[in-house]
Amino acid sequence: MHVEERKNVSVEAIGIVYSCFPEKFGIPRQAGLAPSATGIVELYHPYNRRELCNGLEGFSHIWIYFLFHKAIDEGWKSTVRPPRLGGIERRGVFATRSPHRPNHLGMSAVELLGMRHIDGKMLLYIGGIDLLDKTPVLDIKPYIPYSDCLPGASASDWVEDPVSHMQIIFTKKAQEFCDRYERKTGRKLSRLICEILLEDPRPASQKEKKQDFGMRLWEVNITWTVSVKQCTVVNCTFI
Ligand code: SAM
Repeated sequence: MHVEERKNVSVEAIGIVYSCFPEKFGIPRQAGLAPSATGIVELYHPYNRRELCNGLEGFSHIWIYFLFHKAIDEGWKSTVRPPRLGGIERRGVFATRSPHRPNHLGMSAVELLGMRHIDGKMLLYIGGIDLLDKTPVLDIKPYIPYSDCLPGASASDWVEDPVSHMQIIFTKKAQEFCDRYERKTGRKLSRLICEILLEDPRPASQKEKKQDFGMRLWEVNITWTVSVKQCTVVNCTFI
């Protein structure tokens, strides 16, 4: 290919994701792993007209194409260490879904829970997300099962989602906080905590250490401890 054929292109964000994940730690490795993880896509002008989404209500799931905006400063890498390989072995970036890729482009198939056009805002309510709060959205497309779901497809063993043997328990005060929060907001906080901890978000390097862990979901700080195969959610507090 001639150098002059390598054109630069520019794209603009069509919207933004407001997500239950204000920080990276705790975000599932892939969409769908935590069905209770929810967010809202707000479309920007001029993409916020209702007509751009007409017909989308007929689909249970949509593809969101987005920018890994909080990985841009870290640049891209030709090989990365996938967490599923214990953070030790390397794979080519194109063999992974790593955020540290050229163009920092991500794609997630998420559940479309609903849509609203209100006060000039076009809002898409989404579930099963793996997206950081304020992620820029580049495109939205319907998920088409006959084409996008490939039952005969195979993947390397190391990308399979292992069966979790983690047991999750809540202290009384953590459970009571979740119950109050859920009654007030309608958000499924305790279920989301369980879905995340079942996937064991600890970095491989910290799995042997005995220490407390913390993550943020919506405006809540959550702390937990791990002992062998048991997670104890110790406390939940407002940030
Ligand atoms: N499903 C997408 C894909 O395949 O392109 C994302 C997979 S990527 C392995 C998921 C991780 O990206 C999350 O665990 C989170 O740490 C990170 N992430 C999500 N949104 C991000 C953002 N806006 N900027 C940087 N990292 C992000």
